[in-house]
Amino acid sequence: MIAEVKNTATPEQLAQFVKWIEDRGYKTNVSGGDEVTIVGIIGDTTKIDPFLLESMDIIERVQRITEPFKKANRKFHPEDSVVDCGHGVLIGGGNFQVMAGPCSVEGDNLTQIARAVKAAGATILRGGAFKPRTSPYTSQGMGEAGLDLLMEAGAELDMPVVTEVMDPRDVQLFLDKGVDIMQIGARNAQNFPLLREVGKTTTPVLLKRGMSETIDEFLMAAEYVMSEGNENVILCERGIRTFETRTRNTFDVNAISVLHHLTHLPVIGDPSHATGYTRYVRPAAYAATAAGADGLQIEVHNNPSEAWSDGAQALTPDMFADAMRRIALIREAVCADIEEA
Ligand code: PEP
Ligand code: MN
Repeated sequence: MIAEVKNTATPEQLAQFVKWIEDRGYKTNVSGGDEVTIVGIIGDTTKIDPFLLESMDIIERVQRITEPFKKANRKFHPEDSVVDCGHGVLIGGGNFQVMAGPCSVEGDNLTQIARAVKAAGATILRGGAFKPRTSPYTSQGMGEAGLDLLMEAGAELDMPVVTEVMDPRDVQLFLDKGVDIMQIGARNAQNFPLLREVGKTTTPVLLKRGMSETIDEFLMAAEYVMSEGNENVILCERGIRTFETRTRNTFDVNAISVLHHLTHLPVIGDPSHATGYTRYVRPAAYAATAAGADGLQIEVHNNPSEAWSDGAQALTPDMFADAMRRIALIREAVCADIEEA
């Protein structure tokens, strides 16, 4: 970390600042120039609050040289991580997987949807049993009974399942049921006790980006899970909230390549929540695939107008099958071995 000291600072103030830093166990390297003086702060600076330094009268600005995320950082782990989702399904490092299914598990139609998405090429079954709804008066999901249905469908079709856990007190239930991937939703993206709780397990975690989370904050959320020992984290870009109102969210397709640059963790795209409308889901899915995502999560419903939640963004099984054929073609282009000119 480097701190730029204002040229109005007196030598006494500078010495005081250096002592303050060194008293906290860091080494310093002061280099004085005509315009500015730079204080290099050497050591593990993850515990230093750069805003606190910038609030000091003599400090102009502070810059981090190394990122505060360590376990998620590609610098210390150059190869892509591959997460084993169970049932022989790997994601990351060239393994591309599509998770599909209804927003909410609703009952018997789950098996019908699951069979259809599997036939179209999905390898992971999604479905929410515990639903984070904006209104407490709308369906909150089937709860434990929904987990049972999901696990049954996963077993029948030999597919791992991904489903959202909202409460740290439910994590043990998810483990007891044998849930293959625990999803942390956008609304809980920075629920630190929940992140720590899933971090204490070895079950893969699908971590969605918070609605107003920067990429760095997203990576620090992954760091919470990993710091507890669970390194099986899959990141999901699902759109962020912007000034735009024509779509539910704004799909930050850039984030897929930025995340691949910064972290070794697999990164998938969720074009359903990113757009909010069925008509926009397929184009966003193609964009995420073309951007090099390691997979997708897509909501599919047999009868969207009757869905308990997110019917407006559901693909029908036929639309999903069409999307999967095109996604396969895009993957061919992304993976093609073409010599650079
Ligand atoms: C979901 O997957 O149904 C969901 C609620 O997603 P998000 O947390 O991204 O809104
Ligand atoms: Mn949904």
